[in-house]
Amino acid sequence: MSKQAVTVIGLGPMGRAMVGAFLDAGHRVTLWNRTPGKADDLVAKGAEEAATVAEALAANELVVLSLTDYDAVDAVLAQAPGALAGRVLANLSSDTPERARAAAAWAASHGAVHLTGGVQVPPPMIGKEGAVTHYSGPREAFEAHRGTLEVLTAADYHGEDPGLAALYYQAQMTVFWTTMLSFYQALAVGSANGVKAAELLPHLSGMTAMMPHFFQLYAMHADAADYPGDVDRLAMGAASVDHVLHTAEDAGVDVTLLKGVQDVFRRGMAAGFADNSFSSLMEVLKKQV
Ligand code: NDP
Repeated sequence: MSKQAVTVIGLGPMGRAMVGAFLDAGHRVTLWNRTPGKADDLVAKGAEEAATVAEALAANELVVLSLTDYDAVDAVLAQAPGALAGRVLANLSSDTPERARAAAAWAASHGAVHLTGGVQVPPPMIGKEGAVTHYSGPREAFEAHRGTLEVLTAADYHGEDPGLAALYYQAQMTVFWTTMLSFYQALAVGSANGVKAAELLPHLSGMTAMMPHFFQLYAMHADAADYPGDVDRLAMGAASVDHVLHTAEDAGVDVTLLKGVQDVFRRGMAAGFADNSFSSLMEVLKKQV
């Protein structure tokens, strides 16, 4: 049986990796990108380049969108709303759950099905073992196309709500970006003191290797909304954060990130959580100031 043909719109690093994975797996691919010239090597490998968005949408039922964000998705699909009827849009572009829900409603009003996706891995891992994408949206359409989508990555389906895949994805990205920024904060302090990144690396990696243990314990605190101070006290944590901040100040590096962290700890102290675990900061973070 011949493999399902697929359209891919968007040829950034991620879209290009996706086209490559589909071609390697024997799928016919039609592609389109706003800026011309990015498809040449992929066309040489067998992909067909559509001249317009309408042509790309008309080519195949399954359309993978890999764009910077939903503003880009809107800008692309607005070029050919009449070509959307009957299409299944696997939108693997990043944005908020609210944007995903609005996009799903808009697609439905044009006769298309919207599957939200959040890819958990960088482009070199597309088509490789261990890669996973969050999906949500209509189950029937997801199951019908799951096999083809799993050429890219394994699929983690979260249910019919089109916002859920975006929610899971953004939750992970919250940890990713803040962790990576804290990594660079530590390297900046090291660098200002003449310590190279390579020298700090094993110690910082050792710290992050312990994180799953902390996540496990403190997730229980969060779900129970109970923050016992038997292992750690917020007052201790607040003092420790001050030491981290002062070390950075003494090194003369940027302290924007650490001042934000200190602010959250101080608000936890002001709210009376000094003798609770630092996990009580969950109560601070639940509210927008
Ligand atoms: P890029 O931002 O590099 O890709 C951008 C694509 O979107 C290009 O095809 C670009 O077209 C197009 N685009 C942007 N704005 C518009 C617009 N207004 N109109 C039409 N096309 C537009 O992203 P990546 O390829 O790196 O990633 C794609 C998605 O995957 C993103 O949502 C990203 O968050 C997500 N992702 C990326 C990962 C990564 O490591 N790269 C990892 C996991 C998820 P043009 O070529 O014309 O500029």
